[in-house]
Amino acid sequence: MQIDDILQVLPLFLNHSNAAVAIKDIDGCYLFANSEFSRYADKPWQEINGHCDADFQMPEYNQKIQDIEQSAISLLRGVSCDEEFSRDGNTVYYLSTRFPILDELQHVIGIGIVAMDVTAQHQSISEAEQALCAAEQMNAQLRLAVASLEQLASTDRLTNAWNRRRFEEAVESEIHRFHRYGHPLSLMMLDIDHFKKVNDTYGHQEGDRVLKQVAERIFASIRKSDSLTRWGGEEFIVLTPNTGLAYASILAERIRANIAIQAVGDVGTVTVSIGVAEYFPTSSSKDWLERADRAMYTAKREGRNRIEIDATVGNAPIVAEHFEGHFVQLVWKNAFLSGNEVIDTQHQGLFRVANELLDAVLSGRPSDEVSLIVSRLLSDVVRHFEDEEAILAALSFPGLAEHAGEHARLVAKALELADAFKTGVLSVGSLFQFLAYDVVTRHMLGADREYFPYTAA
Ligand code: GH3
Ligand code: MG
Ligand code: MG
Repeated sequence: MQIDDILQVLPLFLNHSNAAVAIKDIDGCYLFANSEFSRYADKPWQEINGHCDADFQMPEYNQKIQDIEQSAISLLRGVSCDEEFSRDGNTVYYLSTRFPILDELQHVIGIGIVAMDVTAQHQSISEAEQALCAAEQMNAQLRLAVASLEQLASTDRLTNAWNRRRFEEAVESEIHRFHRYGHPLSLMMLDIDHFKKVNDTYGHQEGDRVLKQVAERIFASIRKSDSLTRWGGEEFIVLTPNTGLAYASILAERIRANIAIQAVGDVGTVTVSIGVAEYFPTSSSKDWLERADRAMYTAKREGRNRIEIDATVGNAPIVAEHFEGHFVQLVWKNAFLSGNEVIDTQHQGLFRVANELLDAVLSGRPSDEVSLIVSRLLSDVVRHFEDEEAILAALSFPGLAEHAGEHARLVAKALELADAFKTGVLSVGSLFQFLAYDVVTRHMLGADREYFPYTAA
């Protein structure tokens, strides 16, 4: 079949087609176009017949078409493209395909063009897209509005801190998380010292400025996961998820110092008193807040501008609580009782002194006071080891030699720490590392348990 044969039958099939169809010879001159193609080309057949695209003076468009036809010829298959142009002032869209016409020997003898007017579909797609886009924008605006309403409803306007309602919601969910995951949970109650005097001396407005500044300094000291609540007039709460008493105390001390260190305008130095308390699984949130409040009032009583740690011991499931920097708080449990009265009394005594030291360091007691506790603790450890070895010898404990060796190692380390403390290079971290891990966790709860069968008998 030759191209002329095709051309003879084409009009019969294609003049009423919805598709614009045309055929060009190998030189690009139009041999056939149906009536829909005339509409597509916006020209009557007479103006198309025998002409090339170049005659139509649309250089940019022609270049694009020529490239497509070249690829169709070299690939020996149809190549499609989207076309967009203006007709009677409206944008119309076509999807066109240009394909090579081949003879029996697979030689290219012409180019076929089929173009479909897809303006209607295009409009419905773009309308849908626009509608979706508008809906998304509305939704985003709505979300923003809801978030800012939420923010307004849950924060204090002066300080930007959470209000009580928001705090109560957060506490509930944190307690839920505590029971689910067992992560420690602490809070601190802060109260500005002698704030009434600030108002009386400098006026209520200046008082407000102080409140704002204090809140800003607290915000600057806490982590993203912590929250600040304005609990009352000049009372704040910092809630610290995932944090036990020891680290919360360090944070409280940092907050106290950050506030006291810098004057607030004309008012001068402002200080806060802070009470820190940890949540226990057996306590209610009310009890937890009361413990923090009591600790805060103790801090007031003890002279203000200080932190006080709630000393209540809960039924914590773990003995040593681990933190960033290895800070610990030691909690005694009856399971640690060996059955020997002297040993048990001494073990409990060591827990007490270790916690006392923790409190002293964290609440920033003077170094001579801390030094006293350190040397007391170290001499208690040495005394205890001697007594324990004597008791175990009397009980013919077979692991005595090994146990005594372990004691000697711990004493050497204790003396090393005492020296470091004297020269001022002992860090709180290495001190508690020693107490919590070496002495308590590894020794008292590890090696010591080996002699329990002898002491319990
Ligand atoms: P203390 O060290 O014992 O806490 O002494 P204090 O004077 O801070 O304690 P007191 O509770 O007697 O006084 C708190 C004052 O805080 C009384 C009140 O006028 C003031 N206050 C409470 N809310 C605001 C506030 O929103 N703005 C200002 N400017 N003052 C406030
Ligand atoms: Mg108060
Ligand atoms: Mg106050």
